[in-house]
Amino acid sequence: MLAVLNKQTVGDLPESAIRGRRALVRVDFNVPLDEHGHVSDDTRIRAALPTLEYLAERGARVIVLSHLGRPKGKPDQKYSLEPVSRHLATLTKHGVRFVETTDTDEALKATHALPEGEIVLLENTRFLGGEETNDERLARALARLGDFYVNDAFGAAHRAHASTEGVAQHLKPAVAGFLMEKELRYLGRALADPERPFVAVLGGAKISGKIDVIEQLLPKVDRLLIGGAMACTFFRAMGLQTGKSLVEADRVSMAKELLDRGGDKLVLPDDAVVAPSIEQGSQARTVSRTAIPADQAMLDIGPRSVQTFAEEVARARTVIWNGPMGVFETKPFDAGTRRLAEAIASATDRGATTIVGGGDSAAAVTDLGLENRMSHVSTGGGASLEFLEGKTLPGVAVLDDARG
Ligand code: ADP
Ligand code: MG
Repeated sequence: MLAVLNKQTVGDLPESAIRGRRALVRVDFNVPLDEHGHVSDDTRIRAALPTLEYLAERGARVIVLSHLGRPKGKPDQKYSLEPVSRHLATLTKHGVRFVETTDTDEALKATHALPEGEIVLLENTRFLGGEETNDERLARALARLGDFYVNDAFGAAHRAHASTEGVAQHLKPAVAGFLMEKELRYLGRALADPERPFVAVLGGAKISGKIDVIEQLLPKVDRLLIGGAMACTFFRAMGLQTGKSLVEADRVSMAKELLDRGGDKLVLPDDAVVAPSIEQGSQARTVSRTAIPADQAMLDIGPRSVQTFAEEVARARTVIWNGPMGVFETKPFDAGTRRLAEAIASATDRGATTIVGGGDSAAAVTDLGLENRMSHVSTGGGASLEFLEGKTLPGVAVLDDARG
């Protein structure tokens, strides 16, 4: 049972409800493919394996649904899941088949023909016109593909689509998979009952996309550390010169209001790595936040700020991190993000619960090889943000409630 949200999980199903039955499992196999059509990052596939193998090992016929990319409601070969099925086959000892269709009689036949303990991946759900509109007829057609439903697609749970929400209204039991459970457990506990001190670190390009997260976290955290270009909008609100830095002029008054309300909780960088442009990294230098030159942009937090942030993180028992500290894709502006990631990894080593959400932050952690030194790296960028904003995720809400 998933205490945080009181939802049933796949682990609650008795074995008799699994063996020989068709488990319709929605996963998030929305993975990057390289120019040869090979999976270039299989994090999300590996993350869904525990659920798929648990079911296969207990003799289920495992029918897998996923989306990939944005094919606009009609078939588009470049978004076929066929290469993903080939990759999946290399990761598991269970048989993996692929069927080139999703909601048809052919797909239905394939689900019945599937031997126990084997896996069939059906074609991209977004090849279907009714997927993103959560069409009722499509939801019913998908529901026929299984005898019970498992949602393990945390990354798609913030969307009420036919394969994430509609189908679960027509196919019961409808339960959470292990990845879904893990995501909700970490994120849910941090919001509901964090071990303190609770420190949140926010960064990234824009404050506008994260206002609701700041609003939601500010009353709950002990410290809110702000890096990334987002800090520059706060600098402007403090009356500082920001030069060519990315500032959202229409959010300055809101930043001012947050500064007033946040008091000591809000911690901003006190130095900045600046350069005339991202391309001119060789000219990067560190300045105080009060001395950002008119012809330069802040592209990373400075070493003093890193030190302050690292000390705050070191004291924390719970850390949530969303958004890089600088333009981490380009050296030397990756230093702040790298050192922060190392500080968070060390906090994990000392027993803190550390959670990374956000696509770019997760990518930075993976690039640094630190993903195993975080308590949890979320597989869902948008979904984790919406969860942290306090929104209900429709793909979760529709799942069966835990029994008393
Ligand atoms: P996440 O995906 O982790 O939620 P965001 O998408 O909000 O993160 O932000 C990531 C982007 O923010 C990166 O592309 C990074 O280059 C950019 N960024 C961070 N700091 C700055 C800065 N000071 N100036 C411009 N862009 C920045
Ligand atoms: Mg991003």
